[in-house]
Amino acid sequence: MPQHTSAPDPTNLTAGLFDAGPDTRTLDAQLLYLRLPAIRRHALDLSRQAASEGWDHIRYLSHLIEVEARTRYDKSAQRRVRQARFPVLKNLDTFDWNWPKKIPREAIESFLTLRFLERKENLLFFGNPGLGKTHLATAIGYAAALAGKNVLFANAIDVVNRLQGALATHSLPAALRQYTNPELLILDELGYLPLDQQGGDLLFQVVSSRYERASIILTTNKVPAQWPSTFNNDSALASAILDRLSHHCHSIVLEGESYRTRKIKK
Ligand code: ADP
Ligand code: MG
Repeated sequence: MPQHTSAPDPTNLTAGLFDAGPDTRTLDAQLLYLRLPAIRRHALDLSRQAASEGWDHIRYLSHLIEVEARTRYDKSAQRRVRQARFPVLKNLDTFDWNWPKKIPREAIESFLTLRFLERKENLLFFGNPGLGKTHLATAIGYAAALAGKNVLFANAIDVVNRLQGALATHSLPAALRQYTNPELLILDELGYLPLDQQGGDLLFQVVSSRYERASIILTTNKVPAQWPSTFNNDSALASAILDRLSHHCHSIVLEGESYRTRKIKK
């Protein structure tokens, strides 16, 4: 490990040890070398606090480590949230539980414990447009990303389009992995547009490759009886998909009127 590196990269300077004078130069360089930017930034402030509040060495050390650990955790959580590609971030705090006429609130809140992910269970949200299905799916996925899970949010049509494109360029396996690898896949808005036979087959591959392996949260405006119409009137395919999705699942049925038209009505 270098004892005396050249002066730290000036683009990397934040107020921290480097400003504390020549005594701390080596320490500063080593913290840069070890990539401990939060300790580097806070060591001086914390050492002053330690002196004024009479912390012992272990207490000072644990504050230093905590600040670095928290910074790293926050950074990787932010990265996971970015990678999940949520269209808009939502959480349950902003959800008005009194708006839908019928909603299983306790069950939905319990999904934030993420037990369903450990058990590889699926969550299927059924309901008319504007009832908050995407909002709720996003809120649960957001909680999962913050808890360290790899999450991907994708519109069902976009998934099919992407896979059909990959099929045309002979890169289907890699494209499929994008949807089979995440610990949680949110498939949003199945049923808004009908799929052709090939699209349905590709979606089946996604669902069956995750079956009993990793969870899917699905949102749809179609009750199961209407699924064949989404899958090119292929009842066998529709029920094969539904079968795998619902084997280990929680079905959440929302009833009421669209939240989007709420303000107009008011
Ligand atoms: P869906 O996916 O069921 O069509 P969305 O989740 O997209 O509905 O909801 C439409 C808009 O209304 C979003 O901006 C969402 O945040 C908001 N919304 C829906 N239901 C509620 C609710 N009960 N409380 C607060 N906002 C809601
Ligand atoms: Mg939606």
